[in-house]
Amino acid sequence: MTTTETGSTEAGGRASVPSVRTADEGGGAGDAVVVGSLSPSRAGDFMTCPLLYRFRVIDKIPERPSAAAVRGTLVHAVLERLFDLPTGARTPEAALEMLAPEWDRLLEAEPELAGLFEDGDAGDAEHAQWLEQARRMVERYFTLEDPRRLEPAERELFVETVLDSGLKLRGYIDRVDVAPSGDVRIVDYKTGTAPRADFEARALFQMKFYALVLWRLRGRVPRLLQLMYLGNGEVLRYEPDEADLRATQRKVEALWQAIRRAMETGEWRARTGRLCDWCDHKERCPEFGGTPPPLPAAPVDRPSPADLEGAGTGAPAGVGPREHDDL
Ligand code: SF4
Repeated sequence: MTTTETGSTEAGGRASVPSVRTADEGGGAGDAVVVGSLSPSRAGDFMTCPLLYRFRVIDKIPERPSAAAVRGTLVHAVLERLFDLPTGARTPEAALEMLAPEWDRLLEAEPELAGLFEDGDAGDAEHAQWLEQARRMVERYFTLEDPRRLEPAERELFVETVLDSGLKLRGYIDRVDVAPSGDVRIVDYKTGTAPRADFEARALFQMKFYALVLWRLRGRVPRLLQLMYLGNGEVLRYEPDEADLRATQRKVEALWQAIRRAMETGEWRARTGRLCDWCDHKERCPEFGGTPPPLPAAPVDRPSPADLEGAGTGAPAGVGPREHDDL
């Protein structure tokens, strides 16, 4: 069941019976022979446009950071650190005060981000507007829930599990809340706006992906999946069940088979859509008059399927950086 609203609820209620392997039984990375790996972001890339997946994962073509994506990273950082404060100190004022130091921290880690804004008055104005939008998102968060009433069990949680097929699923979860009953709520912050009804399934795929991984790791189906859209102040909630997560696993496996087929044939189809407007690879995309570079030569230069996830992002092979795909 999906609900979209602007209030907040806590996880609680029913428990479910695990019927897949738990971490102790081999649901984690374990000793399985890993044939490849997939995160929700890269799975989403392939579903959006196989050619985009190729540019990011096979060709590993670097992309320019966008102001919107970096703002998402900044807001996520503030919301993560907010919970470092004592419960009573988690106020909007305290969160807003974190924006500047978190931005400094991001700049220190990635000095090239300073290039997002040009030197001079125009760049300064752009930066001020960008920061103001981040402020509004942080303020909007407080209209959706009261962090003084919450104690997250996990924040920025890296999870991974290996399916029986050898496909490794991995990703970072913004927040995991655990109720006294043991019920689990998975929370994801989005700095964009809530999707139209026909795009909801796409938004929920990422959450079901995480739920599947947590189910395998902990032997309990998460009670609630919660997407918090800080761009317009909506919350999308979904209560998954075992059938949902089994279907998600089948979908992920089918997706991986499609990726393998594309690797074997070298056919990476371009699929145009509204995300083309934000695509960094338009200039080399045949749909826009471009020519893709030759595929990297196999086997020396081409990454093995097991190496694919960190590609295109500057991360070490096999370990993708934290991504916030809010566009
Ligand atoms: S411009 Fe559009 S069709 Fe071309 S690679 Fe990017 S997302 Fe795919």
